[in-house]
Amino acid sequence: MFCRNCGAEIPDGSKFCTSCGSSQTAPSPAVQGGAPLSGGSGYQSSARPGRPSNYLVLSIIVTVCCCLPFGIAGIVYASKVDSSWNAGRVDEAWENSRKARNWSLWGLGLSVALWIIYVILIAAGVAVGWWDTGLYAI
Ligand SMILES: [Zn+2]
Repeated sequence: MFCRNCGAEIPDGSKFCTSCGSSQTAPSPAVQGGAPLSGGSGYQSSARPGRPSNYLVLSIIVTVCCCLPFGIAGIVYASKVDSSWNAGRVDEAWENSRKARNWSLWGLGLSVALWIIYVILIAAGVAVGWWDTGLYAI
């Protein structure tokens, strides 16, 4: 047989390599010393997978753009996402993330709709103005 570690030829049934001394009975020497998934440090918690987005930026945009109540609601839930996550309540953090997204998207949609109506009214006013000018020209 051959050594699992260095490939040297060793007597059949050897438990240890006569060349490098590595064990021939271990399942796989490669998996030893894998990176442990220990948390604990503050900077690591922010990089943990599965952390839900808090949609804080979207909420602030909604607040500034137009729909203050929707934006405020989004910001409130956005802050709850972080506090829930930091407290270890993953499900609660995801629930708050979902609410923050819903409020923000509703506010964003309402903002867009109002802006479209606003633009239509301006366009209509301009069109009416042109129409009047045309009438007076005749
Ligand atoms: Zn060896």
